[in-house]
Amino acid sequence: MHYLIALGSNQRHPRFGLPRDIIGAAGQRLAAEGLGIAGTSGIITSRPVGPSQRSYANAVVIVETILPPLVLLALLKRIESEFGRRTGQAWSRRVLDLDIILWSGGAYASDTPALTIPHPLMRERGFVLGPAAEIAGDWRDPLSSLTIAQLAARNRHPRKRLEKAPKPLDHGRKRP
Ligand code: AMP
Repeated sequence: MHYLIALGSNQRHPRFGLPRDIIGAAGQRLAAEGLGIAGTSGIITSRPVGPSQRSYANAVVIVETILPPLVLLALLKRIESEFGRRTGQAWSRRVLDLDIILWSGGAYASDTPALTIPHPLMRERGFVLGPAAEIAGDWRDPLSSLTIAQLAARNRHPRKRLEKAPKPLDHGRKRP
């Protein structure tokens, strides 16, 4: 199967360095674990906003593997913890975050451990949709039936959706 995996970092790592270097090292780590890397997006970085002074780096990769979703999730969690992330650590401080965004098997849900594919926040995360559109623009979200390219365009132009919103039902009706 093919999986679309999002990689994110917003902390320095004592060995790997800045967030974008951590993302690069994590990609190499996925390959070293035997996952076939079938596509790699560019790494997007955003400058720190506010007092945290912490920059963010994000990318996505397509991996090819025979591993089923829960086994892949366990592998991703192991890699996250090897990069220094502690369980329960808030998003604001994490060395590495690995999320399964989509896979070639359609919709998937498990309670224990918790795993939902498509990733529930993928449709509103520009830092996932942007890189994903580079390498998986024609992949389809099984829930909305929209492609990644369409979801990315919607996310970039949210106002257009408002302008295209249906007109009120009573529009144009004659007053009694
Ligand atoms: P996160 O904070 O993003 O690392 O996610 C925390 C937990 O969300 C993980 O331990 C997973 O069990 C669960 N989870 C649910 N859906 C997903 C998904 N699509 N990819 C990764 N983790 C997921």
